[in-house]
Amino acid sequence: MPWLGLGVFQVEDGETVAASVEEAIVQGYRHIDTAAVYENEEGVGEGIRRGMERAGITRDELFITSKLWNADQGYERALEAYRESTARLGLDQLDLYLIHWPVENKFTESWRALEDLYKEEKVGAIGVSNFQIHHLETLLQTAEIVPAINQVERHPRLVQTELFKYLTEKNIHPVAWAPLAQGGIFNEPVLVEMAESLGKTVAQVVLKWHLQTGWAVIPKSVKKHRIYENADLYDFELNEEQVKAINEMDQHRRVGPDPDNFDF
Ligand code: NAD
Repeated sequence: MPWLGLGVFQVEDGETVAASVEEAIVQGYRHIDTAAVYENEEGVGEGIRRGMERAGITRDELFITSKLWNADQGYERALEAYRESTARLGLDQLDLYLIHWPVENKFTESWRALEDLYKEEKVGAIGVSNFQIHHLETLLQTAEIVPAINQVERHPRLVQTELFKYLTEKNIHPVAWAPLAQGGIFNEPVLVEMAESLGKTVAQVVLKWHLQTGWAVIPKSVKKHRIYENADLYDFELNEEQVKAINEMDQHRRVGPDPDNFDF
């Protein structure tokens, strides 16, 4: 899985999402993150086809993720939902399919469906999203396959130190959603100062911090120059003190729903 992907949450289906996915692929992104509930899989598929053509690449060079929505959890429905997502995307299969949220009393059964998709080679990899340690402990009691990925909210105000340690022990790769705290950290003095000293933007400093601390990232933007900016991360490094200073911004504060207390 490429460690940098384009997120498309809240991006309108049709031309808006198609154009941003196409632009990202042309600029060199090889990983796109969508979900059934974003209701933009058709436009994402269109963007993938246009991007591949313009970039002169083939399907196997891309890594496409989608997610099983809560209302579709359960064994039979999950199998069907996977088929529906691939059909909307116009793809034979996904590289990664995730259980979107840990719906109590359902996710174990949904996981069995994802395991069967994987065993039948209908999907490249399977994983989960928004799982806390105790959800994973429950899942692992009956799972035959350990999730490849746990995609969770993570940014400088929610560093997820304990979860990261657990995921590392279990060999589950962490992916950060809302890596830029949905825009809520751009005026943080520590980050503004650090960005100035490095000659980079706050977004670049924060995305680099994620990568250097072992997290894959899927920042969202529909703007061409930001899609570029968010991938221009490989000509600088944060030093140990800079990484530590960002780690110390942790307030255990979320911008999104709490996986232990959601009602959707
Ligand atoms: P994000 O942290 O990526 O922030 C996106 C916001 O930051 C947008 O408003 C964008 O305009 C702005 N932005 C992006 N790049 C910028 C830049 N360089 N300069 C200034 N502003 C910039 O938040 P997100 O979209 O919530 O998360 C990223 C992706 O994670 C989503 O698109 C989606 O694919 C995924 N996601 C997953 C879940 C889940 O439950 N698994 C939940 C939310 C999001």
